[in-house]
Amino acid sequence: MRFDIATLFPELMENYLSASVIGRAREKGIFTAECHNIRDYAFNKHRRVDDTPYSERQGMLMQAEPIYRCWQAVCDMTRKQPHVIYMSPQGKTLTQKRCIELSKMDNIFILCGHYEGVDERIINKIVDEEISIGDYVLTGGELPALVLIDSVARMLDGVLAQEDGYMDESHYSGLLEYPQYTRPEVWEGMAVPPLLLSGHHANIAKWRREQRLITTLRKRPELLDKLSLSDEDLAIIHKAMEEDGQIV
Ligand code: SAM
Repeated sequence: MRFDIATLFPELMENYLSASVIGRAREKGIFTAECHNIRDYAFNKHRRVDDTPYSERQGMLMQAEPIYRCWQAVCDMTRKQPHVIYMSPQGKTLTQKRCIELSKMDNIFILCGHYEGVDERIINKIVDEEISIGDYVLTGGELPALVLIDSVARMLDGVLAQEDGYMDESHYSGLLEYPQYTRPEVWEGMAVPPLLLSGHHANIAKWRREQRLITTLRKRPELLDKLSLSDEDLAIIHKAMEEDGQIV
């Protein structure tokens, strides 16, 4: 899989993309992430890529042409038309489901906006979808792009130490993850649930399912509405709601 990122701050992206799990996966060649400085595609000697928006006195907007040239250079280099994503607070909110779908694509081109954003015409010309990382506004698309790359790349084969480890984690199946514990066995008077020390795999799996349901109920109950749950699951939820005093 290959990501091409069009940004005004390639060095900022590089730092994150070279570290930890994602950096190692990139080094091993599991995926490629190339950062392109949009200024390299400016058509003036001062490498300016922004201008004032029409009919506004304040703020700067990224011009369409340098971004277009950058995208064209990537298409020429890769000999492919990548799927183009513009990171934008106006886009659809990123979900685990969309990350799973994106992880199956070969080439993704990510456009990071800055200042007041980008000239609308570049969106109309090259962008396939706009993705937001939440209903708030950041100064640039770099952090959102990193969020997207990280969440997609960690699902590629060979990235995580435990293959398919991400399937057990929050959101993959629509539920949150069960609580987890590490040494020591007792900390500040709080003991690890004894069942987890028993080595009884079937009972541990049953406990984890129960805990996933209860954790989701307590932290993000609206997620349960989207799932088709078994009678056994519903009984677990009903019991937890009784315990919490939500039903009498
Ligand atoms: N004027 C734009 C608006 O009101 O919709 C906001 C521009 S924002 C200050 C600058 C850039 O940051 C955007 O072009 C986008 O690339 C990025 N950005 C800001 N918030 C974002 C979010 N929640 N999700 C994804 N990208 C975001």
